[in-house]
This record gives sequence, C-alpha cells and structure tokens, in this order.
Amino acid sequence: MRPEILFPLFADATTLPGVGPKTAPLFEKLGVTKVGDAVFLPPTGVVDRRVQPSVQGILEGTMLCVKASVVSHHPPRRPGAPYRITVNDGTLDFMLVFFRPTPEWLNRILPVGEARYLCGKIEHYDGIAQMPHPEVFDPATEDAPDGFAPIYPATAGLGQKVIAKAVRAALGTVPKLPEWQDAAWLAKKGWPPWNAAVAALHAPDGPMTLEADDPGRERLAYDELLSHQLALALIRAKRKRSKGRVSVGDGRLRKRVLDSLPFALTGAQERAIAVIAKDMETPERMLRLLQGDVGAGKTLVAFMAMLIAVEAGGQAALMAPTEILARQHHAGLGRLAEAAGVRLAILTGKDKAATKRETLAALASGEIDVVVGTHALFQKTVEFRDLRMAVVDEQHRFGVDQRNELADKGRGADILVMSATPIPRTLALASYGDMDVSVLDEKPPGRQPIDTRMVSLSRYDDIIENLRKALDKGARAYWICPLVEESDTLDVAAAEDRTRVLRHAFGEDRVVMAHGRQAPGEKDASMEAFRTGAAQVLVATTVVEVGVDVPEATIMVIEHAERFGLAQLHQLRGRVGRGAARSSCVLLYQGPLGDTARERLGVLRETEDGFRIAEEDLRLRGAGDLLGVKQAGLPRMRLADLEVHGDLMEVARDDARLILNRDEDLATERGQALRVLLYLMERDESVRYLKSA
Ligand code: ADP
Ligand code: MG
Repeated sequence: MRPEILFPLFADATTLPGVGPKTAPLFEKLGVTKVGDAVFLPPTGVVDRRVQPSVQGILEGTMLCVKASVVSHHPPRRPGAPYRITVNDGTLDFMLVFFRPTPEWLNRILPVGEARYLCGKIEHYDGIAQMPHPEVFDPATEDAPDGFAPIYPATAGLGQKVIAKAVRAALGTVPKLPEWQDAAWLAKKGWPPWNAAVAALHAPDGPMTLEADDPGRERLAYDELLSHQLALALIRAKRKRSKGRVSVGDGRLRKRVLDSLPFALTGAQERAIAVIAKDMETPERMLRLLQGDVGAGKTLVAFMAMLIAVEAGGQAALMAPTEILARQHHAGLGRLAEAAGVRLAILTGKDKAATKRETLAALASGEIDVVVGTHALFQKTVEFRDLRMAVVDEQHRFGVDQRNELADKGRGADILVMSATPIPRTLALASYGDMDVSVLDEKPPGRQPIDTRMVSLSRYDDIIENLRKALDKGARAYWICPLVEESDTLDVAAAEDRTRVLRHAFGEDRVVMAHGRQAPGEKDASMEAFRTGAAQVLVATTVVEVGVDVPEATIMVIEHAERFGLAQLHQLRGRVGRGAARSSCVLLYQGPLGDTARERLGVLRETEDGFRIAEEDLRLRGAGDLLGVKQAGLPRMRLADLEVHGDLMEVARDDARLILNRDEDLATERGQALRVLLYLMERDESVRYLKSA
C-alpha cells in the first residue's frame, strides 16, 4: 500500500488553487491530474524577471519586466481594433496592447495614474515600443517580479500565471522524503537531495537550469531511471525465485543436426547456444532475449535450445505471430528435425478439426517433441506432457501475458524470446531490463552486400525498364507500397493500383499481390506463387508479413521510402540478399528530400548493420518516434531522456541489481526509502513482487 507520507502528492489536482472544473481538463493536457504531477512538471523555458530600468533600446521580441505608470486609456475606435494603454517607465512612453479585453477589467487592473510592474514581450509598431497582453503586478499587493521564472509548456487557455500558481501550491504540499539514493553516489555526482531538487526545478537561477545536465534535473531523471530499473529487477528476481527446471542435454541430437549442416555455426551462435545451455542447467527459470539482425541465424540457435529440452526428456514449442511465419518455420525446421530424429508438428488456428485433435493428443502424450505454431499454442485445450522450452519469435508481437501463458503450459519452462528489431542498447536496457540478453552480432559468412540505391520517383520509367531486364533474366522482386497515412483502405488501394500498373508493364501472370485485407487463401496463393517462382513480382504492403523467406528474391523496391522508419526499411531490405546471388534494394523517394530525410536514407546505403542503423535512427529522429519505443512499454518519464541520459540508464540497471543482491526484500533503511520511490513513481505493482509483500 502506498505510504502515508506520499498521500499529499496523490491528492487530486483540483485541490490546487486555479484548478477547477474549467481548467482541470487543460491541466490534464499537461499531464497534471494529481498534485504530484504538478510537482514534476518540468519548465520548458526560463524568463528573466529582474525589473529593468526602461524599455528604451530593448530589442524586438525580448521578454522583460519594467515598472511604469499608467498615463491614459485608448479604447478601440472601431470594432476589432485593439485597446491601447499608454504607460511611462520614467524614460519612455510605450503602449500596452489588448485584443478583445473587458474594459472594466482593464480599468480595474491598470487605473490611470498608478504604477504597475509589467512583464511581457517587446514589439515595435510604427516606431513605438509596445507590449501586448503583459502580465500585470500591483506593487501595493504583490511582490515585484524578480530573478528568473519558469515557463511551463503552453496549452491554449491556460496562462503561465495560473500554472505557476498551481505548481507553487503543489510544492507547498511536498513532504520531506527519505533519501533513496546512495549517499556516496550523490556526493560523487554533486546531486542535491530530492526535496531540494524539486524545489530547484521550479526556481531556475538562469537559463542553464534547463540543461539536461543540471544537477537537480539529472538527479530527478536518475530517480526515474532507477525506479524503472528497480521495478524490472524485481520482476526478474521474482522469476528467478519461481522454480524452474533443470534441463541437461547429452548433446546427441544437437550433434546430428550440426553434422547435417553444410556450414559451421558462427561464433555468435556458438556463444548464444552455450549461454542458453547453461541457463537451462540451473534450477532457475530462464528468460532470455535473443536479439539479432535479420539473417543472423536466430532460428538455428532456438532449435538447438529446443533440442536440449528434448534431449533432457521434455518437449519444446516455438510460437510465431502469424500463420505464414509458423509455416515457414515448420518447413525450415523440417529438415533439421529429420536429421535429429525428433518428431515435429505444427499447430495453427487453421488446422482441420480432425488433424488438430490428433496433434493435441500427440502433444499431451509426448509423441510430439517439438511443435511450431501460432497463438493457437496457448489456447486452453493445448496440453503438453512435459514442456521445458518455450520459444517466442518476433516477441514484440506478443504481450508478456501471452508469452507467460505459453510457458505456463509447462512446469517452470524456460523461455527464449527472439527479436529481429535491433534497438539501441539504451532502449534495450529500458525495455528489456528484466531479461537476460544474448546478441547475435555476427552474420553467417559469405553473404553478399546488398547494392542499395536512392532513386527519385521521377525516374520511374528507368526503374521499370531495368526491372524488366532483370525479370527477363529470371529475377524475383518485391515491390513494397507504403502505409498511406495509417489507413488500411488507402494502403490497399495503392497496392492495387501499383499491381495493375506493373501487370500492364510486365504481363498479368508475372505480378501477384499480397496485403492485409485479402482473404487468407488469396494471400497464401500469392506468396506461394512468388515462392515457387510462378510469379516474379510480389507487390505488398508492409502489413504483409516481413518474415517471408524466399532466397531466390534478389530485388527489393520500396516505394516512398522516405515515409518509412529506418529500422523498418532495414527489415524490408533484409528480405533480399539471402541467397548466393547478388541483390539490390531500390529506395524510391518522392523528391525533394529534406536534409534529414536524405541523411536517413543515406545511412541505409552506408551500412547493413542493423544496430548501427537503429542508433542513427535514434539520433536523427529522437527516441519518441523510434519503432520499438511504443512496443517497449516504457513508463512515462518526465525528466529522463533516453537520448541524453543513456549512460545513466546503464548505471541504473547495475545499481538496481546491486541493491537487490544486497537487500532483496528492500528491508534496510535505504530499502524502505526505495519503496517510497517506487510508490512515488507509481510502480506499485512492482512492490508486490517483493518476497514479503
Ligand atoms: P533470422 O531468423 O535471424 O533472421 P534465420 O535463422 O532465418 O535468421 O537464418 C537465415 C538463414 O541463414 C537461414 O537460411 C539459415 O539456414 C542460414 N544460416 C543460419 N546460420 C548459419 C551459419 N552459421 N552459416 C551459414 N548460414 C546460416
Ligand atoms: Mg527469423
């Protein structure tokens, strides 16, 4: 339960002055629904509130505060014209300008003859300085503006004064919280205590306070990162406590498969398999992420892990996100299973009732050693005799619950999840901190580089001509049509149009189409025709499974490449270059390209290293946009920014694991303080993972 000391911060925002029925929705837009949200609302700017002697000589656009006396009011002479008020700052007359004000209100706050502090932006009109809609302070009742004031993110209808007032009131309720950070670490970084840091957040002493490396901000960012990593570490620790299985294989099945392969494992594959085997030997439950670029050979690693389970007398399952992928895995593993002498089956939602009944019976009796399937695998009716290894392919396509549902079909089954989405290390730490990670950072040898080019759509005719020549020589090509503004219908229309045009150019039979709105039979037929070579061009939207494996395809054309994320382009390109023949990728773009767009596409031309591409994508687009961030299920971070605080994320991960090693139940004084931090950051659920919760 949330500790009492935090109650004030979790009070409703409407308890703050100025947050009422009308303004509450506006505050909500700023993410402020509780008092604590106002405390953590970081200013996005700083204004100098030191009162200046005069507006004389002040540059256009400068924000400043002056003291001036009200000289005269000039109500508008015609409708729509502004209400002007002449004031004098002792040196100069200037104008205050108000559009559509209530005259009574202006007369009340700016009576003629009285002095006021005025803060606002200086503009010049007809050579006269003016200040539109200034903030007005009455020296008789209000403090003079002074020092520096925070500027909060703007939202229509909510003035700075209202926000600042609510924030000030929120700060007034802030309890003195115990220190959860390590004292030596704080001292080393020169970071203030939490209470001082939140106070300083709203009391800038100059523009420097906005920088991400401001000690106060950095401390608050680290609080967020640490709480996140601690939450992940708690999940991990709980899993490690839950009983797993000891699966020791004798290697006999693995040896048969390796002997049957025409190639040797890469060093990265060998390392990954060794680590997995070690995980499986321990009584703890494995949860390991196998990350590797397309074509890195993850499937083989997974199969080896599954064979260990079988060697140890158990069963293994591989779950893929789509029917097509499941069938592909099944086909690909068939030869290997044969070599090993293990019984392999497939289970999908499309199986005929009788077949399905048989498969289910064989799984329950243990006749089947390895099963490949779709979501159908974790349905209630599916029982295993002894599931020891659950492998999840393209893990981001499944929820954590689905992953666990599959694994729970065994007693403490080990889990291996695979991802072909290379994500930068900081993001991986942020999102997969609860897993152990193996990376296949080495591709099988002999792959030819893919000739990647950027070509303007205006050279469409040349493209078609070149493509025709290649097709005449027997080549197979993908033609990818982009997402049109996230609309399925328009996507499909674009793909259909393109198919028509290409059929016209190359002949009816040569071109097939696959998209997300097709009847499954139709789509499968297209894929099959392309796979066998009956058709040479596959027009597809990205909705279509990118995991398709047709080694004979050597050309990838991506239309409107500028609309895709780099990671996505990289994935698409990875569909070619799988066989021995030289492959090419044409990034068709609609000109003119902006600098960033050009630079982004240029990265693809320079490298085929998915991790480098992901890093560049992060640099060019920012973490918020990156494919994978949304999937990563990151909590809201208000001060931490993965781009600038990446190193701290790494420290936080180690810190969190160290904390739990020493104090697994968060029982020490610091442990208790860390519990407060977890509640403060709304990680309530993770506290429940504590042993004694
Ligand atoms: P991923 O799933 O990581 O994209 P796959 O497992 O589908 O990659 O492997 C891609 C291709 O590379 C497959 O045809 C596979 O047989 C082949 N392959 C796997 N490991 C090796 C290796 N060590 N040497 C050569 N080819 C390999
Ligand atoms: Mg794969």
